[in-house]
Formats: sequence, C-alpha cells, structure tokens
Amino acid sequence: MKRHCNAKIVATLGPSSSDRATIQALVEAGADVFRLNFSHGSHADHQQRMEHIRAVEREVGRPIGVLLDLQGPKLRVGTLAQGPVQLKEGATFRLDLDKEHPGDATRVALPHPEIFAALTEGAELLIDDGRLRLQVTRLGEGFVETVVLNGGPLSDRKGVNVPGVVLPLSALTEKDHRDLEFGLTLGVDWIALSFVQRAEDIVEIKRIVQDRAGIVAKIEKPAAVDRLDAILAETDAVMVARGDLGVELPAEAVPAIQKRIVRACRRLGKPVIVATQMLESMVSAPVPTRAEASDVATAIYDGADAVMLSAESASGRYPVESVAMMDRIIARTEADPQYRDLIEASHTQPQPNTADAIGWAARSVAGLLDVAAMVAYTSSGASAQRMARERPRARIIGMTPRRATARRLSLVWGVNAVLCHDVADVPEMTEEAVATARRIGLAQAGQTVVIAAGMPFGTPGSTNLLHIAQID
Ligand code: PGA
Ligand code: MN
Repeated sequence: MKRHCNAKIVATLGPSSSDRATIQALVEAGADVFRLNFSHGSHADHQQRMEHIRAVEREVGRPIGVLLDLQGPKLRVGTLAQGPVQLKEGATFRLDLDKEHPGDATRVALPHPEIFAALTEGAELLIDDGRLRLQVTRLGEGFVETVVLNGGPLSDRKGVNVPGVVLPLSALTEKDHRDLEFGLTLGVDWIALSFVQRAEDIVEIKRIVQDRAGIVAKIEKPAAVDRLDAILAETDAVMVARGDLGVELPAEAVPAIQKRIVRACRRLGKPVIVATQMLESMVSAPVPTRAEASDVATAIYDGADAVMLSAESASGRYPVESVAMMDRIIARTEADPQYRDLIEASHTQPQPNTADAIGWAARSVAGLLDVAAMVAYTSSGASAQRMARERPRARIIGMTPRRATARRLSLVWGVNAVLCHDVADVPEMTEEAVATARRIGLAQAGQTVVIAAGMPFGTPGSTNLLHIAQID
C-alpha cells in the first residue's frame, strides 16, 4: 500500500480515536505516524492503542510510525478552595510554595521551587495558554508577588509559562522517566521531548534511549529558538510546537520561526513536523476554515516532512475527516506546478560525503531519465533520509531489513518504507527493488528506477553504489 503524497501526516490518538476500527480508518485516510500524547491517558490506554496500531499495521502491510510525546516540565498552579476566581487587572496576586492550602482570589500555590529561584523582578508569568498575564513585582522567600496585567478567570491546575526565563529544569521530569521507560518497552519509534531549552536536554535523553528510538525536539520555548543550531545538531528530528511557542512568544513571531526551523531542518536533512491548530476548527466542524487549509498548504510548500493533528484527531468530533482533509490538501498542493518551483528554490546543496553524493546523483539521474522511483537500500535509514533531503520529483522507496528503520522512516518526506530480505548481490538487489516498486504501484514495465545501496550490503554508512535499472 503506497502513499500518494510526499509529506506525511502525524495524527494524535485520544478518546475520539482509540478503537481499532477508527485507527484503521485513520490509516486508510492517510495517517503515517500516530502520536501517543503522554500528557493525557494512562499507561494502559497507550498500551491498548499501541496494540491496535500494530494489528492495523499487519493488516494494511505498510510500516506505521509511533511517536511518544513526553509531557516535559509543564508548570501548573495548584487548586483553588472554592472553584474559579476572577483576577482583576491591576490587582496584586501572590504565588507561593504552600501546597497545603488551596488558593483564592489573592494567592495560589505554584509547587515548583526551582521556578522561584529563577524568577526575577519584572518577569512575566502566563497562565492558561496566556489568557492571564502576571508580572513579578516582589521576590520573597518561597513566594513572589505579582501585578495582574491581563485579568480573567483562574481555575484549578492551569498551566503556567515563564517565557523570558531559562528555567533550571531538566526537560525530563520523574513522570517523563517513568513514561519513557514504559514507552521503550512498548517499542515506540520516535520520542518527542517537550519544552526543550538547550542541547544538553537532547544529550540527556539520548543517553537513556540510545538507538532504541529517534528523538524529536519540540521547539516551544524562546530559549530553544535562541539555541536552535545547537539543538538541531543533537536531535534526530524536530517539531515546530506552535501551541506553546505561540504562548511564550507573540503569535506574530511564530510564522517566521516556523519557516526558519523548517529551512534549517531541510538543510540538515532531519525530519521536521509542523504542529498544532493546523485544522483546529475541525475539532467541532466537518470542514476547516480557509485559513487552516492555507496553513497546511504553507507547510507543504515549505517542504516540511510532516504536518500534525492534535485535538482534531484525539478528541474532536471528526478525527477521520480531519486526516482525510489534510491528505487532500497535501495532494492538491503537491500537484500544483508552483510547488516544484518553490521546493527547487529552497533546495540546499549536498554536503561533501558519499551518501549525499549518491543521493544527489540519483536525483540528477531521475531528472534526466524520467525515473519512476528512487530506491535506497538502507540499514539505519540514513541514506533514505539523505535521498529525501534532495526533495526529488521521483518517489523514494526506502528498502530495509530492519523493521525499526522502516517504521522510523514513516515520518520522512517522500519515503515509502518497505521491509525486505537481506540481499546478497547486485542482481538480487535489482530484482527485489524492481519487484517492490511494481508491487506498491510506483513503477511499471518500460520504466526506469535508480537504486542506491552500500557494498558490502547491510553495513550502515556504506552507501557507495548507484544502479540504474530498466523494468522489462
Ligand atoms: P503539546 O505540544 O500539544 O504537547 O502542548 C505541541 C505544542 O505546544 O504546539
Ligand atoms: Mn506544547
């Protein structure tokens, strides 16, 4: 079962989409990767979803990626004694470490001692996705006094963002450590780290995960934007997490950052996901707004590897319709002649290494010979990724004997990942590549495929061979 688009769809699973029939419908509508959001749900819920995903994968015969999204150090206020309170503009409001006493209209607990150490006078605190804005006026022992800049209702356990401050927190909380361990036993393919602030956060999680999964750095803090290059150097993939990014920075700053991140990832050949509110109105309506359709298309024109659905597929009324709509927008956009022009215009030169030399040569051959498909024999997935970095016109087939690689490649632009046997020599390689291209409907008799591989076969990092095969 081939995908007809280059860009991939990541769909978050949740209460609206956790039974097997819905998961299957999401795959048939075009979902390539499922996101298990560990900010919500129990381990048992996620395990059940994972079992359904793997059952559906067996049935459809196409590798499906699973992305575990760790909650990270999401800050929250405590509870309130008598339900929601109104904070009035100009009023004084206190945040303290007193978890024992529920809050009221004058104070609430913020049970994160590290935060108090990092706060400075004048720092802003954003509560409930930025709906409430407080400014620190006085620092005390175990408390801060603030003035309310933007007022409104405050209720139990609302999220807190502290945009201007680099927090002395690891991106992995105790809960994240437990979730991570559990997720690794489930066999997830990608792990997303929330509220990354620095490259060391990625190094820390990689030390635990090793090569059992790829790491996705969620860029959702100004501190991460400031250190983008260092973070990109360490991570395997990136998510432009526009939800929290748009709380910590003004909304008008987000589009330029999105473009900058997508561009930087394409330059490095690391997968980039554009996420959050892409088809937000489809949470409750069967069609998106024109602006949302345009937003998805923009990410596609920019050459992002994947676009993501959050509440639309996790808790909305129209999960399958949302994936189908995203799929249609991608297909339309990729069929637009301007798409090729824009992708070419943003193409970056190959790096001086053999994998890029082969990927670049494959793309040139494909341009010259009207090639039906480009096949990469890949063990780690790296050579298929380098081929994808070229954003070629021809479809890419990533052939690998490693199931984990096939699943991981489901996130990568343009790659149809296919599980194959180990091959022994060039004739066998050619035969298997051609048979696969025909079987998944990417090539037919009379057409040409280019095949990239490494000799000796199965050795990671050995890509050194480009073979052109005519299908008879
Ligand atoms: P979240 O991350 O959905 O886990 O908050 C994405 C975002 O912030 O955009
Ligand atoms: Mn977030």
